[in-house]
Formats: sequence, C-alpha cells, structure tokens
Amino acid sequence: MPCDLLDLSREELAVWLAARGLPAWRAAQVLRWVYARGVTDFEAMTDLSRELRVLLAEHFRIAPPMIRERLVAMDGTEKFLFGLEDGETIEGVLLPERGHFTLCVSSQAGCAQGCRFCLTGRGGLRRNLRPAEIVGQVLAVRRAMAEPERLTNLVFMGMGEPLANLEPLLQALSLLTDAEIGMGFAARRITVSTAGLVPQMIAFGRASRVSLAVSLNAADDATRSRLMPINRLWPLGELLAACRRYPLPPGRRLTFEYILLRDVNDSPADARRLCRLLAPLRCKVNLIPFNPHPGCAFARPAEEKILAFQKVLLEARYTAIIRRSKGEDILAACGQLRGRRAPAAN
Ligand code: SF4
Repeated sequence: MPCDLLDLSREELAVWLAARGLPAWRAAQVLRWVYARGVTDFEAMTDLSRELRVLLAEHFRIAPPMIRERLVAMDGTEKFLFGLEDGETIEGVLLPERGHFTLCVSSQAGCAQGCRFCLTGRGGLRRNLRPAEIVGQVLAVRRAMAEPERLTNLVFMGMGEPLANLEPLLQALSLLTDAEIGMGFAARRITVSTAGLVPQMIAFGRASRVSLAVSLNAADDATRSRLMPINRLWPLGELLAACRRYPLPPGRRLTFEYILLRDVNDSPADARRLCRLLAPLRCKVNLIPFNPHPGCAFARPAEEKILAFQKVLLEARYTAIIRRSKGEDILAACGQLRGRRAPAAN
C-alpha cells in the first residue's frame, strides 16, 4: 500500500520532492491542498503539473480516519467514533464554547496506563496512532463541521497517553501548528495531557511550545497509586520535581487536572494537601467532578463538597475552575462509545 501523505512532515516531503528534482516550496503547495482545503484526491490539486499529480498518486495515499458514528448531545457536544484502516476504533469529542470549538483528540487506540476511573484504561492498549491518524482526526472533524463553525482549540485528552507516543505526537503537533500549510493552530490553544510520564515530560517540554496538563487526581502517594498505577513508577515527589524543572514558555502556566471522586480524594484535607503540593508552581487547577459510567466503582461528590474543595484552593490564591462534564446523554465518558462497538482488549 502507498505511504499515507499525512504521515510525512513538511521537511520529509520537501526531501522526497528534492530527490526528484523538484523545489522545496512544492511541499507547502501540496500540503496546503490537504490541510487548508481538505482535498484527499491528488487529481483535484489543479495548480500542480499533471506529471507531479501522477507521481504523488503513485507513491502516496491520503487517508484520514473515517467517521463511523457521530452523536450530538442536547448541550451541543458531539462525539465521533473514527474507524482506522486496520479496523481499530478511536474516539473524539467536539465541545462548543463561546464563539469557537475545542476538539478532544486521541493519541493511542486504547491505553496502557490503567487509571482506575477510566473506561479506556480498562481495555488496555491496542496500539499507538501514526501521525496521520492524529492529524487526520482534526481534518475529518473540520470537514464535518458546518460553516461558519471554527475549530480553534485542541486538547489531547482523548484515548491514550500522548507522551507514550511521543515522536508521532510531536510530528502531528508540528503539522497542526504550521500556518504555511493552512493549519496554524496557536501553540497556546493546544493542550497535551499526561498521566505523569516523567522522562517524556521534560523531552516534550524541550521539543514543543504547546501547553501541558498533568492529570494529578490525588495529593498523596497512597491514593494516587491506587487510582493511577503510573504513580508507583513515578511518585508525586518525582512528578512534582519534573513539573518544577519543566521548561514553560514565558507567560504560561502548567495545568493540573483533578478528577473529584466521592470519599476518595474530595475532602478539605485533600484540598489543603493539594495546595501544599503545588505551592511553588506557576499553575492552575481544573476540578472535574467524576462522570460515572456503567460498572465503575466511583461516584461523583455532592455539589457542596465540590464547592468546598474549590473554596480551599481559591482561598490559597490558586486559579481553580470546576469543569462540568458535557454531553452526558451521548456516552461522553472516554471509551464508552468505542466500548459499545468493539470488543475490549485482552
Ligand atoms: S485516564 Fe488517560 S492515561 Fe489514564 S487510562 Fe484513561 S486514557 Fe489512559
């Protein structure tokens, strides 16, 4: 099968073209057709010579993931199930916000991290996604959106641990932030979330200027290890030390995600521990009341406990925002839609 053009960086395509005696600027010209105009047929690239179109079609295909299912919630949140060429499936969620849209992107089919509150984690890792399958989610959703809707923000909080698939992720990010080929997402409008892969965090910070969110979910090692097996490998002391060393771009802050689970991590004492843990960092905290899914062992805290937790953080002068779940009527918990269509791993 010919190679997927979406797997190539602009530089790699320029090298490929140069080897055939063609100038480097042709790479941006070809990629603009794909990324700015959403064209997937070389024949339609009418400002390229006939010979170049034939040459490209002989060596490449353009195959973003197919949208197999699309559900719209009452609040306007949309959930997509994408089919990949080998039959794997992944999910994406499109979130309407004031005047723009945010897409939640997947980086792996399944996930190896096994976080206990996560449905995707229960099925295990199927495989890493290629760059084409990461940028392809954005292309497919952008094509499915109605005018004049605008996709401006991306969060890598869908299926998978993005930093466990680092090279394809970085390649996808360089395409997504490349204004010359027509993507041009602002780096500060892209957030990559990690469960806390310490060595990869620093490598990522050196290689990319997009924002980083750390999925924390507990302020003591015993609770965090119970919720997130990765904490046994990289406990809080090492994770927070990496956060302090993280090469933040000027004027930016780290984000910490904290899923509030009833009677597990939602007490005022937990909130005070969290304040002490984050004390030296330039950061903000997103509090996410748990969205229960069938068969899970956790529940959402009562509203007054959520507000009391936030109050402790606000009084300690943290930016602490409560992120309400969206799209609850369309199986919006990560992994739910895929779980309904595909057998679980293992
Ligand atoms: S929460 Fe994220 S890192 Fe943890 S198992 Fe789920 S997808 Fe993986």
